[in-house]
Amino acid sequence: MEHRQQQMLRSLPSVEEVLIKERVSAWIEQYSRSVVVTGVRKVLADLRRQIIDACQVGEGIGESEILDALQVWLARKSQPSLRKVVNATGVILHTNLGRAPLAAEALKAITDTAGGYSNLEFNLTSGDRGSRYRHVEELLTELTGAEGALVVNNNAAAVMLVMSTLATQKEVIISRGQLVEIGGSFRIPDVMVQSGATLREVGTTNRTHLQDYSNAINEMTGMLLRVHTSNFRMTGFTAEVSAQELSRLGHQHGIPVYEDQGSGTLVRLTGMPQYDPTVSESVAAGVDVVSFSGDKMLGGAQAGIIVGKKVFIDKMKRHPLLRAFRIDKLSLAALEATLRLYKQGDTGMQKIPFMQMFAASNEILSARAQRLADALAALNGAGNVAVIEVAGQAGGGSMPGEEFASVAVALEPAVGLQEGAALLRQAQIPVICRIAEERLLFDVRTITDEEIPWVVEACKKVIPKGGRDDG
Ligand SMILES: *Cc1c(COP(=O)(O)O)cnc(C)c1O
Repeated sequence: MEHRQQQMLRSLPSVEEVLIKERVSAWIEQYSRSVVVTGVRKVLADLRRQIIDACQVGEGIGESEILDALQVWLARKSQPSLRKVVNATGVILHTNLGRAPLAAEALKAITDTAGGYSNLEFNLTSGDRGSRYRHVEELLTELTGAEGALVVNNNAAAVMLVMSTLATQKEVIISRGQLVEIGGSFRIPDVMVQSGATLREVGTTNRTHLQDYSNAINEMTGMLLRVHTSNFRMTGFTAEVSAQELSRLGHQHGIPVYEDQGSGTLVRLTGMPQYDPTVSESVAAGVDVVSFSGDKMLGGAQAGIIVGKKVFIDKMKRHPLLRAFRIDKLSLAALEATLRLYKQGDTGMQKIPFMQMFAASNEILSARAQRLADALAALNGAGNVAVIEVAGQAGGGSMPGEEFASVAVALEPAVGLQEGAALLRQAQIPVICRIAEERLLFDVRTITDEEIPWVVEACKKVIPKGGRDDG
C-alpha cells in the first residue's frame, strides 16, 4: 500500500470521535444511539474501502464529508420501505405497483375502523359473537344477483377454497385452452393438485366444444371449471363453451359449475370486449360459483370475492381453510366502502380511481399532459418535451390485448435513458415511467393532477441543465 493511502487511513476518525460531534448528538436524539453508531461504522468502513480500492480519493476526507455521508445514510435508513410512488406507466392495474388505488371513501372506512376497535366479529344487536363476512354479504348478493357471498384474502385463496370445498378427491373438467398461469407461480393445474382434485383436461389448446365436456363426465366428476384467460387472448380459429352452455350441462348432471373470473367486474364497462362476462352475467347464465379479485377491475382492496348458490357458499363457510384464508379488517373496511359506491350507481362509481382512470376522456388526458409538459418546459425551455398519443392497457389480468388510446408526455433526458429512469426511481417520491423511442414517457392516465408536482420535482434531476431561453 502506498504511503499516501496509509496516511489517509490513519487520518480517519474513530467511531467515538465522530459520535461526540455536535451535529451527531442531535441525530442520536432523533434516531437513537445504536442506529447512529451503526451508521458511523458503516460510513467509516465505506471510506476505508474506498481509500484501499480506489488508490486515490481526491483531496482527502474532511469532517463534513463524513457527517454528510452519515446524514444521507440515516435519512435513507429511517425511510419506510413501503412507500408512495407515482405510476407513470399508464398500466392502471399494475400488480408491482399495488394494483387498484383506493377511493377516498375506502380510505376513510379504514381510518374510521382500524385506528380503534370495531364490530368486526361482534353483533351489536345481540351482543354476541358475529361474523366478519356478514359486512359485505348483502351488498355482494344485491350487486351480483347471487344467493350467497363470501370474501377471502385474495382470489388465489378463493380458487383454492372453492376447489378444496367442492372437488377434493374428485375430477375437475377444464378446457385445455384455460389451463393458465396467472403469474407468481400460480398455475391452475398446480392449485388443483394442492386442493386434492384431479385435473381432467378436455378439448384442444385453441378449440373446446360442449361435447368434449359431456364426453368426460363420469361418476368421479366433481366440478366443471371455466377460467378467464386473464393475461393473454387467443385469436384465430378458436372455440370456447359459454358460461350458459356449460351451466346447462352441469345442471343436467347435478355437477357444480365454477368460473374463476380473475379480474371480474360488477358492471359492463365501455370498451370491454363482449366475450368478457360481468359477474352478474355469469350468475344469470346459471354458473353456480363465481370468484374474482377485489383489487383488479373492481377497484377495491386486495380480496377474493366468491358469489354463488347458497348451498355451496355455506359449505365453504364451514371449511377449515377459510380461517387460513380470511380477509383482514383493513381490506374488509375498504371493500365494503367500495361496494357501497357501486350501490350508488354512476355517481358512486365515478369516485373509484380505477373507473376515473379507465374512463378518462381524451380531453381530460390531453389537458393533464399539457399541464405536465408546460411545467417541465418551464424548468428548461420546451425543446425536449412533447405531448404524444400512446397505447395504454388496463393491466392486472384485465382485458388482455385490448389497447386504449392514451396521452403521454415524452421527455428527452440529459442523461442516458436507463440512467434517467433510475434517477426518477430515486426521487423523494419515486416516479415509475416507460421508455420508448429514445425518450422517457409519462402516461398521464395513471397520474393524478395532485401528483404532477412530484413528477416535475423528480424530473429536475434528468432534465438538461441551462439553455433556458428567456429572451
Ligand atoms: C388474478 C387472477 C387470479 C389471482 O387473483 P389474486 O387476487 O391476485 O390472488 C386468479 N385467477 C385469475 C384468472 C386471475 O386473473
